[in-house]
Amino acid sequence: MERLFCDAMDGLQPLRFAGVDPRRPLVVAGPCSAETEEQTLATARRLAAEGVRIFRAGLWKPRTKPGGFEGVGTEGLAWLRRVRRETGMYVATEAATAEHVAAALDAGVDLLWIGARTASNPFAVQQIADALRGCDLPVLVKNPVSPDLELWIGALERLCNAGLRRLGAIHRGFTSIDASVYRNPPMWSVPIELRRRLPHLPLLCDPSHMGGRRELVAPLAQQAMDLGFDGLFVEAHGAPDTAWSDRDQQIAPEALGALLRTLKLRETNAAAGELGALRAQIDRIDDELLELLARRMAVSREIGRYKRAHAVPVLQSHRYEELLARRTAQAAAAGMAPAFMRALLQVLHEESVRQQLEEA
Ligand code: PEP
Ligand code: MN
Repeated sequence: MERLFCDAMDGLQPLRFAGVDPRRPLVVAGPCSAETEEQTLATARRLAAEGVRIFRAGLWKPRTKPGGFEGVGTEGLAWLRRVRRETGMYVATEAATAEHVAAALDAGVDLLWIGARTASNPFAVQQIADALRGCDLPVLVKNPVSPDLELWIGALERLCNAGLRRLGAIHRGFTSIDASVYRNPPMWSVPIELRRRLPHLPLLCDPSHMGGRRELVAPLAQQAMDLGFDGLFVEAHGAPDTAWSDRDQQIAPEALGALLRTLKLRETNAAAGELGALRAQIDRIDDELLELLARRMAVSREIGRYKRAHAVPVLQSHRYEELLARRTAQAAAAGMAPAFMRALLQVLHEESVRQQLEEA
């Protein structure tokens, strides 16, 4: 039995903001870091002109290594207040400690998010939750750096237990040791499972930290929409090439405006939308399957090279029999027909042998 998400899970509130159209994806955008008052204000004004209603800017920057720009700190809160006053936008920043929470609450920030590194640490999340107890602020929780769904849900649960109900999740991809075109590979199956477990939790995608490169922001944003995400959390900077942090992944406000205008949204018809989202899930899983298959074949070719170098025959039937027995049993335990698994392994094996022979 799956454990329930905090006692009052049904009480989760939708993330609604007065004046923000709930039928459109929720868009939170702004620079990775607030650098100067001018940069913050100029970026905000240009985003407002593109129709963005919620402004993000990091004031306390969790850096992987010391020595980088670590944020302007509390000084920037006054800049966020100015953004709100002059553009009418809601303002959001990242909180990583109870002190950040207290300072942000004091300044009247409209929304907080918990970063990936912080979400990975239950002690830190609990301290933030305790500091937020008793207030009704919307809080977005990024996924932890590792693909650990329970840890992600646990962070949300800590906030829920502290009485917060306007919660959301931000999928920003996961650290991976495999070489990838992405800075943080999406591993879509994880947020898809989050959606299955917590269907009422608003789910946003951060294509900026996921892609790590400007040109990946739009395609990732579209994929997220195809998968039924509720919104986007995007880094936009007035002069991306000169940004003090995450330079390669930030886009200009006007580029974000164009992206938002060309975004293809799912059909609003509930049934068609649901079916479309399920089909998109299948497509995404097939993408992952194909990628895995390609990796498996690459290892097969490697084995082919080894066997050739050491004069080992390509076909080793005892190894194949063993594999067949183990995997069909595993498949049966997972609710799949053993005959299906046998057939699948047979075609996989044939292609592996073909590739090994080609290598030999
Ligand atoms: C950020 O949003 O600027 C940030 C630090 O992101 P993450 O926590 O996803 O690395
Ligand atoms: Mn960033």
